[in-house]
Amino acid sequence: MTTNQGIEGTAFSFEVLPPMRGKSIESVYRTIDRLMPFNPRCINITTHRSETIYHELSNGTFEKLSMRTRPGTVAIAAAIKGRYGVTTIPHVICSGFSAAEIEEELFDLSFLGIHELLVLRGDRARGENRYTPHPSGHEHAIDLCRQVNRFNEGRLIDGTACDAPTTPFTYGVAGYPEKHEEAMNLDTDMQHLVQKIGEGAQYVVTQMFFDNKKYFAFVDRLRQMGIQVPVIPGLKPLTTLGHKSLLPKTFHIDFPAELVKEFEHCHNNDDVKALGVEWATQQARELRDAGVPCIHFYSMNAAQSVERIMRGL
Ligand code: FAD
Repeated sequence: MTTNQGIEGTAFSFEVLPPMRGKSIESVYRTIDRLMPFNPRCINITTHRSETIYHELSNGTFEKLSMRTRPGTVAIAAAIKGRYGVTTIPHVICSGFSAAEIEEELFDLSFLGIHELLVLRGDRARGENRYTPHPSGHEHAIDLCRQVNRFNEGRLIDGTACDAPTTPFTYGVAGYPEKHEEAMNLDTDMQHLVQKIGEGAQYVVTQMFFDNKKYFAFVDRLRQMGIQVPVIPGLKPLTTLGHKSLLPKTFHIDFPAELVKEFEHCHNNDDVKALGVEWATQQARELRDAGVPCIHFYSMNAAQSVERIMRGL
């Protein structure tokens, strides 16, 4: 990842979610309006798989539908790029998509001049307790890395040739300082990460963490494994009382003891927001002083906090 250096040599990237189905893009623009003054290296846009929903019919029965609750990643990436002139990085995921659908997405992105991707397996379907790949899709992110590599070489999934993109796609992948929830242990998880890098990933963006020691240990281990690519720390500002249980449960991460103690003193969301800004600012300062090339903020629904953190830096 080349870095458009921000404050004191460290670049910043901000992640946004597409709006809920049927909602306008204005909330995304409002978030980015707040963050553009900090000269982000890029804006990431998440992708969300389709979910099963039950639609009530007039006769009282229910129709089972498969629907994406947050569609529009590719269009939003193009809209943000056009409006702000900033590099956009759409997340491309396996979950819920066939390889053919992903291929269509790569065509669209290539035509739109969007060449940087974050390649991921994607979350499992809501309500499922294990990930099930699409019958004509991919099991792991590494399989999608390979599809992108073949596309770059001018090969389609059915083996036929296509025009190789003039600007090949480059991509990053996800890494987990506290281990991915499904991995048997951190070592095997990191070996899988090393394989994705071997396949061509140019950098790693980490899952959120609240204890920098975990990030530094993770990077040290990767370096010992011979990996030299940038490892971009992902920071999430705490904003609601619900984060206390939701974040550890959803992302399989630990809060350090000191943060737990501080959280106990929060009585409302405003208290949590103040704590979140203070904690993330301390984390970001330490990471910046350690010379990380870029800090990635999980900024959707937290634009005001990220703005305060950036000012604090
Ligand atoms: P993988 O690399 O496939 O790893 C998943 C699990 O399989 C791990 O336990 C790994 O150890 C194991 N594994 C990997 N390769 C192999 C192999 N070859 N053989 C056996 N086991 C293997 N989710 C979304 O749905 N949309 C998003 O936009 C999105 N953005 C994200 C952004 C970031 C920065 C991060 C950190 C996560 C994001 N996620 C997103 C969540 C992510 O998709 C999930 O954490 C998912 O469960 C794993 O994705 P992965 O790309 O790490 O998968």
